[in-house]
Amino acid sequence: MSAVRQGPVCIANTALPVIRHVCHVHSQSALNVPARGFRVLGERSCLSFQDARLAVASYKSKFRKCSTVAPAGAALPIRQEENPVSDLKVDVRQSAKEKVATFDRPFSDFLTDTFGRQHRYLRISLTERCNLRCQYCMPEEGVSLSPRQNILTTEEILSLSRLFVAEGINKIRLTGGEPLVRKDIITIIDGLNRLRELGLKHIGITTNAVTLARRLPDLQAAGLDQINLSLDTLVPAKFEFITRRRGFDKVMKGIDKALELGYDPMKINCVVMRGMNEDEICDFVDFTKDKKVDIRFIEYMPFGGNRWNTKKFVSYQEMLHMIHERFPDLTRLSDRPNDTSKAYKVPGFAGQIGFITSMSEHFCGTCNRLRLTADGNLKVCLHGNAEVSLRDALRENMPEAELLDVIGAAVKRKKKQHAGMTNLSQMENRPMILIGG
Ligand code: SF4
Repeated sequence: MSAVRQGPVCIANTALPVIRHVCHVHSQSALNVPARGFRVLGERSCLSFQDARLAVASYKSKFRKCSTVAPAGAALPIRQEENPVSDLKVDVRQSAKEKVATFDRPFSDFLTDTFGRQHRYLRISLTERCNLRCQYCMPEEGVSLSPRQNILTTEEILSLSRLFVAEGINKIRLTGGEPLVRKDIITIIDGLNRLRELGLKHIGITTNAVTLARRLPDLQAAGLDQINLSLDTLVPAKFEFITRRRGFDKVMKGIDKALELGYDPMKINCVVMRGMNEDEICDFVDFTKDKKVDIRFIEYMPFGGNRWNTKKFVSYQEMLHMIHERFPDLTRLSDRPNDTSKAYKVPGFAGQIGFITSMSEHFCGTCNRLRLTADGNLKVCLHGNAEVSLRDALRENMPEAELLDVIGAAVKRKKKQHAGMTNLSQMENRPMILIGG
């Protein structure tokens, strides 16, 4: 068995190490080892799976700045004695960069939980701040915000994003608070956009749209390709009541701007609460007649400080019944894997509707989401209160291999499903605004 190590080559931000080892006996195992961000290009001594992992960990540790700390686009110098890149006949950096996104590799064990769910979707909350005060999202008196220094910086967000994308995350959604209140939002989206070459496919945002119309052209130019917008009423006065702020007209302009700029599907999230907006459900369906939007009715969920009350809860079945009475032709559409919404459409209407039935018919079995809070905690379940601080790990300069172990352990602790409406209402959890939805 030959043992030739031809040296590591950086590929992610043109400076990540590639370890060359193909074992003649255990070739498949060895190929599995470098997994995310690493490409097998040559030969190395026969490594058992574990030995190979250690070898990779050691290189990752050595080049840690490359993939977890350095700002997007920053390149680490490659030392010649360890990186005989010049010996290569082709521009390995470039070809590895091009190939890594399509490399047929097994899904990351770190992002796979004990129920076999593979997590490819990361929701990153950028801020705890918001320019609205929605009743279901935060207590009227507000929430105590984390000190500024506790919030993830631009570089930390991009470093963690790069790490997650290298492991297999292919969709990132920016949430909040209101993500558009964050001044570096364009820089963040631009940095995420550069991760497409590592396999990132979608960059989305969930916004209240108060400033969307004005900012969308720049956001789109930076790489934003998906928009979810929150809107719980079509009545301006009620908007002010629910959000405790003005802004209805601006939100409408935001919707029109998104449609004008070609966002499709343009998703609008509507949390349905009895006594608040359940009388508008059919008006929302009517809204899809001429506008190519996807209205998603979300069942009201218990969160810290949102004055949860079972009497306010309107189930999916009840909503469906109401809609059927006015739109008897309502047709069920097929859902895609990992869809959280059950899709329907009134024939002939431009848009469609859907139901997010988190309480009455949860979809935990196909959950592929992880969440990163604005203060840097990894939250593996929206309704679970277990969290682990990746911010602290980053700031303690934890080697990337160990950081992945921390992430992997948290993912492995993810429960099969949430605890049910009654138990959740008694459970401690962050207010929605501090989770990011
Ligand atoms: S409750 Fe947790 S496991 Fe279930 S879908 Fe939501 S985040 Fe996923």
